Amino acid sequence: MTPTLAVFKLASCDGCQLTLLDCEDELLALAGEVEISHFLEASSSVTGGPYDLTLVEGSVTTAADAERVRAIRAASRQLVTIGACATAGGIQALRNFADVDAYRRVVYAHPEYIDTLATSTPVSAHVDVDFELRGCPIDKRQLIEVITAFLAGRKPDVPNHSVCFE
Ligand code: SF4
Repeated sequence: MTPTLAVFKLASCDGCQLTLLDCEDELLALAGEVEISHFLEASSSVTGGPYDLTLVEGSVTTAADAERVRAIRAASRQLVTIGACATAGGIQALRNFADVDAYRRVVYAHPEYIDTLATSTPVSAHVDVDFELRGCPIDKRQLIEVITAFLAGRKPDVPNHSVCFE
């Protein structure tokens, strides 16, 4: 049976999903080897889980995010987080060192409608993650390597550090 791939977004700018959309040629090469079941940036057609491989972009910033990521995990055989938001909390994690209620009062005309957690946290703080692909945005070649490796049942050949070493 053709393995299924799903892509989900939490709090993020969509840049890492755009990296995936930019992999058109590589994804075409994978066509027939993988069925894209859920990827709202690319298609409105959505198939329910379970998914063989799920990519998650974005951090957890609301209670609804936390609930959603648990449901995504439950529907996914393998779960890979992509990008700095999903692997480390992203730029939105600056709130972790500030008073979120003060921000809410200053920024929004009706702060009572803004439902947010005091922190932005990586997906791995909430559920088990099989692999974290770092970067902001992620690297296209590394992303294809991760997808290909998981579909082949092998470990991705991608550096596991987030800074460049000579
Ligand atoms: Fe956007 Fe960077 Fe977050 Fe990716 S890691 S979603 S590019 S802010």
